[in-house]
Amino acid sequence: MRAKELNRYLGDLGWRRSPIPPESKTPAAVSPPASGESLESLAATAAGCSLCRLSEKRQTVVFGEGDPKAGVMFIGEGPGADEDRTGQPFVGQAGKLLDRMIFAMGFDREEVYIANVVKCRPPGNRDPKDDEVAACADYLDRQIDLIEPEVIVALGKPASRRLTGTNKTMGALRGRWSSYRGTPLMPVFHPAYLLRNPKAKREVWEDLKLVMARLRAHA
Ligand code: URA
Repeated sequence: MRAKELNRYLGDLGWRRSPIPPESKTPAAVSPPASGESLESLAATAAGCSLCRLSEKRQTVVFGEGDPKAGVMFIGEGPGADEDRTGQPFVGQAGKLLDRMIFAMGFDREEVYIANVVKCRPPGNRDPKDDEVAACADYLDRQIDLIEPEVIVALGKPASRRLTGTNKTMGALRGRWSSYRGTPLMPVFHPAYLLRNPKAKREVWEDLKLVMARLRAHA
């Protein structure tokens, strides 16, 4: 089933799956996390968070999930309704497309780490506000420091702006390397945008190939 979806995604683009070995990883140049902290203890702290207004209407804190030592970390904007209900990031339609993108890169979902810039659902799926992003910043930073990914892929505008520290458009940000907390950062269009604009899948695939080449170079 998954292979069928992958073929459909890649078929659109005229590409075949690239067999990138997922196990390569080099330590990122980041400061060490506070002694004794783990993703579990950080998630437990986040579960009781009330630092911003998003905590008032959430059902679940969507902390993030995946391989705690993943080489690739995907960061989206924030949970939607499905994520708020299940507690898992990217499980709606956009999530299904993200799964296909991940698989096209040669990984299973469990082999990467998926998180968001805010851990609670913005009402009506609006973009998170600056103060909400700022309130959640420490969770994300500590998550990144614990995982020490080799590459971060920012999904969409809020994540790309937050991590590049700019207000540039996705057109200007996508496909260009920068770094966040010492880790190479690649902004790409958000899967939800791709559902509305399927032609942009081609650009995303070009950007993901840069990520794959980088991982291969450090294998
Ligand atoms: N689901 C998420 O977890 N994050 C997004 O950015 C969109 C959908």
